[in-house]
Amino acid sequence: MLPASVRPVFDAVQARNPHEPEFQQAVHEVLHSIAPVLERHPQFVSGGIAERIVEPERQIIFRVPWVDDAGVLQVNRGFRVQFSSVLGPYKGGLRFHPSVNLSIIKFLGFEQIFKNALTGQGIGGAKGGSDFDPHGRTDAEIMRFCQSFMNELYRHLGEHTDVPAGDIGVGAREIGYLFGQYRKITNRHESGMFTGKGVQWGGAEVRTEATGYGAVFFAEEMLAVDGGSLEGKRVAVSGSGNVAIYAIDKAWQLGAVPVTASDSSGYVVDDAGIDVGLLRQVKEIDRARISEYAVRRPSARFVEGARPWEVAVDIAIPSATQNELDESDAAALIAGGVRAVVEGANMPSTPGAIAALRAAGVLFGPGKAANAGGVATSALEMSQNAARQRWSFDDSEAKLRVIMKNVHDSAFDAAERYGHPGDYVVGANASGFERVAHAMLAQGVI
Ligand code: GLU
Repeated sequence: MLPASVRPVFDAVQARNPHEPEFQQAVHEVLHSIAPVLERHPQFVSGGIAERIVEPERQIIFRVPWVDDAGVLQVNRGFRVQFSSVLGPYKGGLRFHPSVNLSIIKFLGFEQIFKNALTGQGIGGAKGGSDFDPHGRTDAEIMRFCQSFMNELYRHLGEHTDVPAGDIGVGAREIGYLFGQYRKITNRHESGMFTGKGVQWGGAEVRTEATGYGAVFFAEEMLAVDGGSLEGKRVAVSGSGNVAIYAIDKAWQLGAVPVTASDSSGYVVDDAGIDVGLLRQVKEIDRARISEYAVRRPSARFVEGARPWEVAVDIAIPSATQNELDESDAAALIAGGVRAVVEGANMPSTPGAIAALRAAGVLFGPGKAANAGGVATSALEMSQNAARQRWSFDDSEAKLRVIMKNVHDSAFDAAERYGHPGDYVVGANASGFERVAHAMLAQGVI
């Protein structure tokens, strides 16, 4: 139940955005968490902060026409939702996936505002993408699509305006093609207008690893407060993209045993622990289905059409996509003795799952805090680009670790301050919102 103080804001969001369930879900959670913040800051209420923050500053929807290898004309839809620039240039990734629509991009952009605020850096919130499906497309098709996408988007970007990065379906290859087209159109080599670039041409060390590594650092912090550690813990990871691969990698390095990975066809469970090199070979180089991992690895088996949450583990790191862990998955994890759930993806747990985990006393790290390492390292990339510097891998990883500790502590402290000790959902939302709200108040009715 939403407190009465924020109910009218939610009702207005529902009325104005009737066909956007994911966006409504994200707004509902934030409004619930910030009700105690509004109570303590009447100036945020009179300043209409909540009413303003739920409406994007700007939304761009555009046609992306391109010609496939067979000579057939294809038309996709492109999006960029520029949600808030009160703390810095709009910042957030691009997602290329057939499920992309306005609701998905708006939920991601809305979450990004508070996540980015929580990192303590000077970055606003945005998200973009397209319903383009890169699966099975050739390199040449990907390039033509990216060029057509940028032919429109370039006019809305810039290092002081809006700085995209990757997300699902957008990695180093796509960022290369997108950046190249921006450079061609604008006749500027503007390094800081995109993050996630190749390390050979302006990208930052650790950016590729940062989201997965950061999620495991966050887990380490949460467990430490609880008097535990990662040492010897069995970990279930979902997904097999960038976030999942590097969460698995860091879990091993910190003494845990990651035992699962997945894609939309099912999951693999490997009692000897996931072989990161083989996983990367299968998913990143061969671009094959996850079942191929089990074919090549005797200690693993493939479970078709299911999710890894039925495997008994100590820690779960959902790192695939939104709403991939529901109430029944939460019940299975609880029955298996899970101690912590840490979100590597954006909004992977449904509200029902979060309530069930909380009721069972399971530690829960929401994506807004736990996966903030990716965008935080993007901000480090922007700093390096602005200063024309390159920092080492070790130095960058050390910075990431400090940032994740600060993100953890900010969320933890805010949860205490607002009377919900140990509730990282309230803590992350309240802490991020406080920073955004103070800045909005200071900058007037914009
Ligand atoms: N897509 C990532 C996220 O969800 C990274 C965004 C960025 O680096 O700008 O936070």
